[in-house]
Amino acid sequence: MAVDRMLPTDEARELIELTRDIADKVLEPRVAESEKTGVFPDGVFPDGVFPALGAAGLLSLPYPEEFGGGAQPYEVYLQVLEELASRWAAVAVAVSVHGLSCHPLFTYGTDEQKQQWLAGMLSGETIGAYSLSEAHAGSDAAALRCRATPVEGGYQLNGTKAWITNGGRADFYTLFARTGEGSRGISCFLVPADTAGLSFGKPEEKMGLRGIPTTTAAYDDAFLPAERRIGDEGQGLSIAFGALDAGRLGIAAVATGVAQRALDEAVAYAKEREAFGRKIIDHQGLGFVLADMAAAVDTARATYLDAARRRDAGLSYSRQASVAKLVATDAAMKVTTDAVQVFGGYGYTQDFPVERYMREAKVMQIFEGTNQIQRLVIARHLAG
Ligand SMILES: Cc1cc2nc3c(=O)[nH]c(=O)nc-3n(C[C@H](O)[C@H](O)[C@H](O)COP(=O)(O)OP(=O)(O)OC[C@H]3O[C@@H](n4cnc5c(N)ncnc54)[C@H](O)[C@@H]3O)c2cc1C
Repeated sequence: MAVDRMLPTDEARELIELTRDIADKVLEPRVAESEKTGVFPDGVFPDGVFPALGAAGLLSLPYPEEFGGGAQPYEVYLQVLEELASRWAAVAVAVSVHGLSCHPLFTYGTDEQKQQWLAGMLSGETIGAYSLSEAHAGSDAAALRCRATPVEGGYQLNGTKAWITNGGRADFYTLFARTGEGSRGISCFLVPADTAGLSFGKPEEKMGLRGIPTTTAAYDDAFLPAERRIGDEGQGLSIAFGALDAGRLGIAAVATGVAQRALDEAVAYAKEREAFGRKIIDHQGLGFVLADMAAAVDTARATYLDAARRRDAGLSYSRQASVAKLVATDAAMKVTTDAVQVFGGYGYTQDFPVERYMREAKVMQIFEGTNQIQRLVIARHLAG
C-alpha cells in the first residue's frame, strides 16, 4: 500500500509519483531474480536500472541545479530513497552511497574542482563509491593505513581498501588515505576508476544486497595528480565524518523503506491467512504484533524526517542523524523479523520475500557506523 506522505511541494509529490512509476516498471520486475543470483561472477550491476534512475534525475536529487542536481530538500530526497528501498534495498543503498561519494567534493572542493568534476558526477550517467574502510579499520576509521605519498605533481597511492559498495563498477572513488600520522594525517581524494595501478577484488558473498557489488580495492603505485586532493592535507577524517552524517540519513530512509514493505506484506498476508476459523489479523495477539510493527515504521520515518528538516533549515543535525540511523535500522531489523513470524513457516522459505527483507535489514545496523558507534556519537554530543 502506497504511503500517504506529507510533502512540502507539488513538485515533491510529482517526484514521488515518478519514483513509484520507475520502481514498478524497472525495479519490481528485476529484484527477486537479481537478489537470488547476485552479482556473481562478473560483478555487473542489474541491467538498465541505474541508467533509468539517472535519466529520471534520481541520482542527483539533493545537489544544486547549477551542477546538474535536482535541488530537492533533503526531506524529499530521503523519501525518494525510502520509496526505492521499499522495492529494492540494494539499489537504494547504491543510490545513497553515490550521494555520499559526491558530498566531499561539493562541500570541500574548490570552485575550480567543482566546475571541473561535479556536473559529470551528478549527470546521472556515472555512479560513485565511498572508500573509507579497510580490513582492520572499520569502526576505528582513524586506524586506516592506505598511504598517499607526495611525489612530483601529485601523490602515489599504495594500500588496500575494503567493503566498497559499488566497488569495481563505480566511475569514481572518494578515497581516504594517509598523508601523515594519527587522526590528523588522513586526506581525501577523488580517484577516477581508470587510474593505472587501481584494481578490485571479487565481490564479497553477502547475506543480502546481492544485486550490487561490495569489493576490496588495491592501490599499487597508483599516481594521482595533486589537483585531485579534496580539502587540505590532514582534513580527511572530518570530511569523511561530515559526509557520513548526511549518508546515515540515507541509510535510515532505506531501512524505513524495507520495514514499510515488510509491514505491508505482513498485513496483506494476515488478512488472507486463516487459523482457528478466522483471519489471523483478527487474533488480537497477532494484531498487536502488526500494530507494534506499524508504530516502529512510523517512528523510524519521523526520526529521519526530523533530522532532515533540521539539515534543510541549516541547523546542526549530527546527533539527530545518529538517532535516526539507530532507531530506523533497529526498527527495520525488528519489523522484518516479526514479518517472518507473521508468515509462520512460509516466512522461512524463499517463496515469500520477507526472509530477504530480514537479511537486508541486518547490514543496516552495521554499515555507515555500527549502531554501537551511533550510540557513541550520541553520547559524545550529550557530553558536550
Ligand atoms: C555490505 C557492506 C557494505 C559496506 N560499504 C562500505 C562502503 O561503501 N564504504 C566504506 O568505507 N565502508 C563500507 N562498509 C564497511 C562498514 O562501514 C564497516 O563494516 C563498519 O563500519 C564496521 O566496521 P568493521 O566491520 O571493521 O567492524 P569492527 O569495527 O571490527 O567492529 C566489530 C564490532 O565491535 C563493535 N565495536 C567496535 N568499536 C566499538 C566501540 N568503541 N564501542 C562499542 N562497540 C564497538 C562494533 O559495533 C561491531 O559490533 C560496508 C560494510 C558492509 C558489510
